[in-house]
Amino acid sequence: MTNVLLDNGRAFEKLDTMQIQCPDDPYVLVTVPPPTTTGGYKPVENAESPMVVYMLGAPTVEPEEDETARDLLLRARHEVYATDFDTYELQVREQFHALLGHHGFNHQTDIKAITVNRWAHGYSYDYLALDDPKWAQGQAPHEIGRQQFGRISIANSDSEARAYLDAAIDAGWRVVAEQTH
Ligand SMILES: Cc1cc2nc3c(=O)[nH]c(=O)nc-3n(C[C@H](O)[C@H](O)[C@H](O)COP(=O)(O)OP(=O)(O)OC[C@H]3O[C@@H](n4cnc5c(N)ncnc54)[C@H](O)[C@@H]3O)c2cc1C
Repeated sequence: MTNVLLDNGRAFEKLDTMQIQCPDDPYVLVTVPPPTTTGGYKPVENAESPMVVYMLGAPTVEPEEDETARDLLLRARHEVYATDFDTYELQVREQFHALLGHHGFNHQTDIKAITVNRWAHGYSYDYLALDDPKWAQGQAPHEIGRQQFGRISIANSDSEARAYLDAAIDAGWRVVAEQTH
């Protein structure tokens, strides 16, 4: 997830869109900042104002023989970490040039800052129907791994094998029950 500070929004205004999907590029999603005022955030006022563009990229890898989806996820995750900043920067500049170059955008002067957040972690593994077995109730690895151990209970989204906030809340609910029964 990469944020790019632009000197102004003129080229984006000429492009006349707020969100672009680029399925064949390193960043599949490019969006202008949301018009939110939450938490004192000030939305972009006009095309002359600086703006932060959000870019989302999720690398995909070509499958090799006998690789499961899990293997592919591992390799793609490794790619996120193994890619150096110079490469990310080049990808950002090339993509901006392709998107906005013909609207007068000059990546050398219009890009003021780039922040790359590599989220190779932070996502629990969800089982995949294609490759993972259908575990008997209580026998899935996450169910075995999260078993209560004396006064220790395990609550996090990993313990639910789901990469979402509601899974962490469900886990918290389960753990309170474990500790109070
Ligand atoms: C970029 C990104 C976007 C996401 N978007 C969404 C979304 O849109 N919707 C959604 O539902 N989910 C989303 N998720 C997933 C969601 O954020 C996680 O599933 C959820 O936060 C996991 O909650 P958790 O309590 O298990 O772990 P965490 O929220 O990771 O909490 C673990 C806590 O433990 C602390 N900690 C670690 N080690 C120690 C230590 N040794 N001592 C003390 N404290 C420690 C950490 O600082 C952290 O605060 C996203 C995740 C990422 C990374």
